[in-house]
Amino acid sequence: MGFTERTGGVSASPYATLNLAAHVDDDPIAVRENRRRVLSAIGAEAFAGSLTTAEQVHGTTIARVTLDDAGRGADPLDGSGPIPGTDALWTTEPGVPLMLFFADCVPVVLVSESPRAIAVVHAGWRGALAGIVGDTVRALDAALDGATITAYIGPHIGECCYEVDPLLVSQFANMFVTIPRASDRLDLAAAVAEDLDRAGVSRERQWHLGICTAHNTDRFYSYRAEGRTGRHCAFALLEPRS
Ligand SMILES: [Zn+2]
Repeated sequence: MGFTERTGGVSASPYATLNLAAHVDDDPIAVRENRRRVLSAIGAEAFAGSLTTAEQVHGTTIARVTLDDAGRGADPLDGSGPIPGTDALWTTEPGVPLMLFFADCVPVVLVSESPRAIAVVHAGWRGALAGIVGDTVRALDAALDGATITAYIGPHIGECCYEVDPLLVSQFANMFVTIPRASDRLDLAAAVAEDLDRAGVSRERQWHLGICTAHNTDRFYSYRAEGRTGRHCAFALLEPRS
Protein backbone atom coordinates (compact mmCIF):
# COMPACT_ATOMS: atom_id res chain seq x y z
CA MET A 1 0.00 0.00 0.00
CA GLY A 2 1.11 3.57 -0.33
CA PHE A 3 0.51 7.18 -1.18
CA THR A 4 1.98 8.86 -4.24
CA GLU A 5 3.49 12.33 -4.60
CA ARG A 6 3.14 14.47 -7.75
CA THR A 7 6.60 13.99 -9.22
CA GLY A 8 7.86 11.32 -11.60
CA GLY A 9 5.03 11.39 -14.15
CA VAL A 10 4.37 12.70 -17.66
CA SER A 11 1.42 15.09 -17.22
CA ALA A 12 1.82 18.74 -18.22
CA SER A 13 0.88 21.78 -16.11
CA PRO A 14 -1.46 22.26 -14.25
CA TYR A 15 -1.44 18.48 -13.75
CA ALA A 16 2.35 18.14 -13.58
CA THR A 17 3.44 15.50 -13.37
CA LEU A 18 2.11 12.29 -11.77
CA ASN A 19 -1.63 12.96 -12.06
CA LEU A 20 -3.53 9.69 -11.65
CA ALA A 21 -7.13 10.84 -11.99
CA ALA A 22 -9.07 10.47 -15.23
CA HIS A 23 -11.80 13.00 -14.30
CA VAL A 24 -9.77 16.24 -14.17
CA ASP A 25 -9.43 16.87 -17.95
CA ASP A 26 -5.82 15.75 -18.11
CA ASP A 27 -4.64 13.85 -21.22
CA PRO A 28 -5.88 10.26 -20.71
CA ILE A 29 -2.75 8.89 -22.37
CA ALA A 30 -0.66 10.63 -19.71
CA VAL A 31 -2.92 9.30 -16.93
CA ARG A 32 -2.59 5.78 -18.32
CA GLU A 33 1.21 6.08 -18.35
CA ASN A 34 1.29 7.58 -14.83
CA ARG A 35 -0.78 4.71 -13.44
CA ARG A 36 1.53 2.25 -15.19
CA ARG A 37 4.52 3.91 -13.53
CA VAL A 38 2.99 3.65 -10.05
CA LEU A 39 2.20 -0.04 -10.46
CA SER A 40 5.61 -0.66 -12.02
CA ALA A 41 7.32 1.05 -9.06
CA ILE A 42 5.84 -1.55 -6.69
CA GLY A 43 6.42 -4.47 -9.06
CA ALA A 44 2.71 -4.78 -9.78
CA GLU A 45 2.53 -3.91 -13.47
CA ALA A 46 1.14 -7.39 -14.15
CA PHE A 47 -2.03 -6.40 -12.28
CA ALA A 48 -2.68 -3.20 -14.28
CA GLY A 49 -5.75 -4.73 -15.93
CA SER A 50 -7.31 -5.42 -12.52
CA LEU A 51 -6.72 -1.93 -11.13
CA THR A 52 -10.03 -0.82 -9.64
CA THR A 53 -11.09 2.78 -9.08
CA ALA A 54 -14.28 4.57 -8.01
CA GLU A 55 -16.23 7.63 -9.09
CA GLN A 56 -15.72 9.52 -5.84
CA VAL A 57 -18.68 11.72 -4.92
CA HIS A 58 -18.04 12.74 -1.28
CA GLY A 59 -20.70 10.25 -0.28
CA THR A 60 -20.79 7.37 2.19
CA THR A 61 -21.08 4.36 -0.12
CA ILE A 62 -18.61 1.55 0.56
CA ALA A 63 -18.11 -1.14 -2.09
CA ARG A 64 -16.62 -4.59 -1.75
CA VAL A 65 -14.60 -5.32 -4.88
CA THR A 66 -15.06 -8.86 -6.16
CA LEU A 67 -13.38 -10.46 -9.17
CA ASP A 68 -16.42 -9.34 -11.22
CA ASP A 69 -15.61 -5.69 -10.46
CA ALA A 70 -11.84 -6.00 -10.85
CA GLY A 71 -10.56 -3.65 -13.55
CA ARG A 72 -13.38 -1.10 -13.28
CA GLY A 73 -11.91 2.24 -14.35
CA ALA A 74 -8.44 0.72 -14.85
CA ASP A 75 -7.88 2.29 -18.23
CA PRO A 76 -8.93 5.93 -18.76
CA LEU A 77 -9.26 5.29 -22.52
CA ASP A 78 -10.94 1.92 -22.60
CA GLY A 79 -13.13 -0.59 -20.83
CA SER A 80 -15.69 -0.14 -18.10
CA GLY A 81 -15.81 3.05 -16.06
CA PRO A 82 -14.99 3.32 -12.36
CA ILE A 83 -17.40 1.94 -9.75
CA PRO A 84 -20.06 4.69 -9.64
CA GLY A 85 -20.94 6.84 -6.62
CA THR A 86 -18.51 5.23 -4.20
CA ASP A 87 -15.89 6.63 -1.80
CA ALA A 88 -14.49 3.49 -0.18
CA LEU A 89 -13.31 0.27 -1.81
CA TRP A 90 -12.25 -2.92 -0.08
CA THR A 91 -11.35 -6.42 -1.14
CA THR A 92 -10.03 -9.77 -0.04
CA GLU A 93 -8.95 -10.66 -3.58
CA PRO A 94 -5.22 -10.95 -4.26
CA GLY A 95 -3.98 -9.27 -7.43
CA VAL A 96 -6.63 -6.53 -7.46
CA PRO A 97 -5.03 -3.11 -6.85
CA LEU A 98 -7.42 -0.52 -5.37
CA MET A 99 -6.76 3.15 -6.10
CA LEU A 100 -8.54 6.39 -5.11
CA PHE A 101 -7.59 9.99 -5.94
CA PHE A 102 -6.93 13.03 -3.75
CA ALA A 103 -6.05 16.72 -3.70
CA ASP A 104 -6.56 17.79 -0.03
CA CYS A 105 -9.12 15.20 1.13
CA VAL A 106 -7.95 12.56 3.61
CA PRO A 107 -6.72 9.27 2.12
CA VAL A 108 -6.96 6.28 4.43
CA VAL A 109 -5.69 2.76 3.75
CA LEU A 110 -6.88 -0.05 6.01
CA VAL A 111 -4.98 -3.33 6.19
CA SER A 112 -5.91 -6.60 7.88
CA GLU A 113 -3.09 -9.11 7.68
CA SER A 114 -5.04 -12.09 8.93
CA PRO A 115 -7.54 -12.65 7.48
CA ARG A 116 -6.14 -10.71 4.55
CA ALA A 117 -8.08 -7.64 3.40
CA ILE A 118 -7.40 -4.11 2.25
CA ALA A 119 -9.47 -0.94 1.94
CA VAL A 120 -8.90 2.52 0.50
CA VAL A 121 -11.12 5.36 1.73
CA HIS A 122 -11.68 8.92 0.46
CA ALA A 123 -12.70 11.28 3.28
CA GLY A 124 -13.24 14.95 2.59
CA TRP A 125 -15.17 16.93 5.18
CA ARG A 126 -18.47 15.36 4.16
CA GLY A 127 -17.15 11.83 4.42
CA ALA A 128 -15.25 12.52 7.64
CA LEU A 129 -18.32 14.08 9.25
CA ALA A 130 -20.49 11.17 8.14
CA GLY A 131 -17.97 8.67 9.55
CA ILE A 132 -17.09 6.84 6.32
CA VAL A 133 -13.71 5.72 7.71
CA GLY A 134 -15.19 4.08 10.82
CA ASP A 135 -17.98 2.59 8.72
CA THR A 136 -15.42 0.98 6.39
CA VAL A 137 -13.68 -0.57 9.43
CA ARG A 138 -17.07 -1.91 10.55
CA ALA A 139 -17.78 -3.30 7.06
CA LEU A 140 -14.48 -5.22 7.16
CA ASP A 141 -15.16 -6.41 10.70
CA ALA A 142 -18.62 -7.63 9.75
CA ALA A 143 -17.38 -9.57 6.72
CA LEU A 144 -14.18 -11.02 8.17
CA ASP A 145 -13.68 -13.21 11.15
CA GLY A 146 -11.31 -11.70 13.70
CA ALA A 147 -9.70 -8.97 11.58
CA THR A 148 -7.09 -6.78 13.28
CA ILE A 149 -6.98 -3.60 11.27
CA THR A 150 -4.13 -1.12 10.90
CA ALA A 151 -4.89 2.34 9.46
CA TYR A 152 -2.55 4.52 7.39
CA ILE A 153 -3.62 8.16 7.04
CA GLY A 154 -1.92 9.91 4.12
CA PRO A 155 -1.21 13.48 3.02
CA HIS A 156 -4.17 15.87 3.23
CA ILE A 157 -4.91 19.52 3.92
CA GLY A 158 -3.84 20.29 7.49
CA GLU A 159 -5.50 22.37 10.17
CA CYS A 160 -2.81 24.97 9.33
CA CYS A 161 -4.39 25.64 5.91
CA TYR A 162 -7.99 24.45 6.18
CA GLU A 163 -9.99 27.57 6.93
CA VAL A 164 -13.73 26.85 6.96
CA ASP A 165 -17.03 28.27 8.17
CA PRO A 166 -17.09 28.11 12.02
CA LEU A 167 -20.55 26.55 11.69
CA LEU A 168 -18.95 23.55 9.99
CA VAL A 169 -16.40 23.23 12.80
CA SER A 170 -19.30 23.33 15.24
CA GLN A 171 -20.98 20.45 13.37
CA PHE A 172 -17.75 18.46 13.74
CA ALA A 173 -17.56 19.36 17.44
CA ASN A 174 -21.03 17.85 17.87
CA MET A 175 -19.72 14.57 16.47
CA PHE A 176 -16.13 14.48 17.72
CA VAL A 177 -14.92 15.45 21.21
CA THR A 178 -11.39 16.15 19.92
CA ILE A 179 -12.61 19.00 17.68
CA PRO A 180 -12.65 22.34 19.54
CA ARG A 181 -15.92 24.21 19.01
CA ALA A 182 -14.88 27.84 18.52
CA SER A 183 -12.56 27.76 15.54
CA ASP A 184 -12.43 28.67 11.88
CA ARG A 185 -9.94 25.90 11.16
CA LEU A 186 -10.73 22.24 10.85
CA ASP A 187 -8.47 19.33 11.77
CA LEU A 188 -9.79 16.51 9.58
CA ALA A 189 -7.13 14.09 10.84
CA ALA A 190 -8.34 14.52 14.42
CA ALA A 191 -11.89 13.63 13.36
CA VAL A 192 -10.69 10.61 11.35
CA ALA A 193 -8.49 9.44 14.25
CA GLU A 194 -11.43 9.60 16.67
CA ASP A 195 -13.70 7.85 14.16
CA LEU A 196 -11.13 5.04 13.79
CA ASP A 197 -10.68 4.79 17.55
CA ARG A 198 -14.43 4.47 18.01
CA ALA A 199 -14.60 1.74 15.35
CA GLY A 200 -11.95 -0.25 17.24
CA VAL A 201 -8.71 0.83 15.54
CA SER A 202 -6.79 2.16 18.54
CA ARG A 203 -4.25 4.99 18.27
CA GLU A 204 -1.40 2.45 18.42
CA ARG A 205 -2.68 0.99 15.16
CA GLN A 206 -2.99 4.36 13.40
CA TRP A 207 -0.15 5.82 11.36
CA HIS A 208 -0.50 9.49 10.46
CA LEU A 209 1.80 10.88 7.81
CA GLY A 210 1.08 14.42 9.06
CA ILE A 211 1.96 16.25 5.83
CA CYS A 212 -0.19 19.18 4.65
CA THR A 213 -0.94 19.15 0.91
CA ALA A 214 -1.67 22.90 0.66
CA HIS A 215 1.66 23.64 2.35
CA ASN A 216 3.60 21.38 0.01
CA THR A 217 2.36 21.93 -3.54
CA ASP A 218 5.81 20.99 -4.84
CA ARG A 219 5.13 17.44 -3.61
CA PHE A 220 1.33 17.11 -3.63
CA TYR A 221 -1.74 18.40 -5.44
CA SER A 222 -3.91 20.85 -3.50
CA TYR A 223 -7.33 21.85 -4.78
CA ARG A 224 -7.53 24.58 -2.13
CA ALA A 225 -4.15 26.06 -3.02
CA GLU A 226 -4.22 25.55 -6.79
CA GLY A 227 -7.78 25.17 -8.10
CA ARG A 228 -7.46 23.24 -11.38
CA THR A 229 -4.86 20.58 -10.66
CA GLY A 230 -4.17 16.85 -10.66
CA ARG A 231 -4.68 14.12 -8.07
CA HIS A 232 -2.21 11.96 -6.17
CA CYS A 233 -3.44 8.60 -4.98
CA ALA A 234 -3.74 6.11 -2.19
CA PHE A 235 -3.43 2.50 -3.31
CA ALA A 236 -3.37 -0.96 -1.84
CA LEU A 237 -2.83 -4.44 -3.23
CA LEU A 238 -2.87 -7.92 -1.76
CA GLU A 239 -0.04 -9.82 -3.37
CA PRO A 240 -0.96 -13.30 -4.59
CA ARG A 241 0.78 -16.00 -2.57
CA SER A 242 2.02 -19.10 -4.27
ZN1 LIG B 1 -0.80 23.65 5.77
